[in-house]
Amino acid sequence: MPIKSSTADPQPRYVQISGQDNVGIIVNAEGVKPGAVFADGLVAAEMVPQSHKITLSDLAAGEAVLRYGAVIGHAKRAIPRGSWVREELLDMPAAPPLDELPLATAVPAAPPPLEGYTFEGYRNADGTVGTRNILGITTTVQCVAPTVDYAVQRIRAELLPRFPHVDDVVAITHTYGCGVAIDAPGAAIPIRTIRNISHNPNFGGAPLVVSLGCEKLQPARLFSNDLPVLEERGVVRLQDEMGFAATVEAILRAAEKRLAELDKRRRVTCPAADLIVGLQCGGSDAFSGVTCNPAVGFAADLLVRAGATVLFSEVTEVRDAVHLLTARAATKEVALDLIREMRWYDEYLAQGRSDRSANTTPGNKRGGLNNIVEKSLGSVAKAGTSVLSAVASHGEKVTAKGLVFAATPAGDFMCGTLQLASMNMHVFTTGEGSPYGLALAPVVKVSSRTTLAEKWPDLIDLDAGRIATGTATIGDVGWDLFRLLLDVASGRKQTWAEKWKLHNALTLFNPGPVT
Ligand code: CA
Repeated sequence: MPIKSSTADPQPRYVQISGQDNVGIIVNAEGVKPGAVFADGLVAAEMVPQSHKITLSDLAAGEAVLRYGAVIGHAKRAIPRGSWVREELLDMPAAPPLDELPLATAVPAAPPPLEGYTFEGYRNADGTVGTRNILGITTTVQCVAPTVDYAVQRIRAELLPRFPHVDDVVAITHTYGCGVAIDAPGAAIPIRTIRNISHNPNFGGAPLVVSLGCEKLQPARLFSNDLPVLEERGVVRLQDEMGFAATVEAILRAAEKRLAELDKRRRVTCPAADLIVGLQCGGSDAFSGVTCNPAVGFAADLLVRAGATVLFSEVTEVRDAVHLLTARAATKEVALDLIREMRWYDEYLAQGRSDRSANTTPGNKRGGLNNIVEKSLGSVAKAGTSVLSAVASHGEKVTAKGLVFAATPAGDFMCGTLQLASMNMHVFTTGEGSPYGLALAPVVKVSSRTTLAEKWPDLIDLDAGRIATGTATIGDVGWDLFRLLLDVASGRKQTWAEKWKLHNALTLFNPGPVT
């Protein structure tokens, strides 16, 4: 149901994204009524809700419906000018074939570098920079999770107040570690995800490790060459301890040692190039691809020009726009890496007798997104216009600079968890709204509509809906986001998710079998 907006505009308005488009997106919060007349003389033939599509010309049966200048479907029957384009009126196009894609054929020229932008961060020994100073506690198996959660409550209450330069203590708990086919090829993904999250830049370079003892995911398997260093800093094995109280004390002692080290750290001025920003969308609507995602894309271009790393993800939301991205790849090898990730996911979905069309949600459809093609074209707007510099598989640590595709499922908690293998900041765009947040990295939430920002003023950090109402440009909101990211990264500002401590559970992607 549309939310009444104080900025409601009585003049019927639509947004046409590309001059080739034969549909527009309704801007008015209340939608438009039959007979409503737009400034260009278009008359609504029926009621069309906000963020849904209206035909700008008569469409013949079988005619392509164009949005973003691209085909989002074909009309199942004739659709007169001024009509509401609903899902049942469209046939969805097939996904672009992976063996016929352009490889690095439209590599964008390097834009001028953006210099002089900095933030205050915590520099780590490995060269990465933290935006927060957090003690991480890695767990090797779910069996220890409640014990670690109990210990974390006591650490927060009894130890943390003595270490004012440490922001938080966070347990990396998960459902993995035992009862899994740990030698299966798919097991590599959850294992490297846990390993790389344990070395997240916001953890000061080294986690504390809590193991059970008998689990399949032994600390040596998880950390291999890194284990000796971690042993020095503290590895607690529950099955070596004498009872629950002694176990908790052992975790507290190890935590106290690490907190004392972390407390000595101070923020130093770092170039914006040290940001590693993960992008994703959740609860998208038809405005996501008009307002917040293009604004995030603008900010992504600024970050890339400043030398930073920008991660975009969500394979099923890239699949239908992959032809645009392989053309933009820096080299043929990078384009082929992207195709490899798309093919792997096509096969993964096929094993489950599914395909990328399973992505769209009831909320997406209520918000005017008819199918995954339309959703994808809006989703990749987050990636801006920069050259695609590298591709990472699920859970791999990204070390490349520039725009990087980091493969993840589109589900919000899995995407965020996998991006935590690398990122020190997160941007989340939403149309329908989600109170999403992460414990390990600040999450900046950007709304697609002003109505959502007004409904949730204490959850949305930046309103991109101003673009649809004409009170701000994509560039204005892009710059606002870029500056907000530097403020949040520096700890000068908190995001709403940080203020309320909204921490979605880490959710590993495990395509391997369980036993
Ligand atoms: Ca998502």
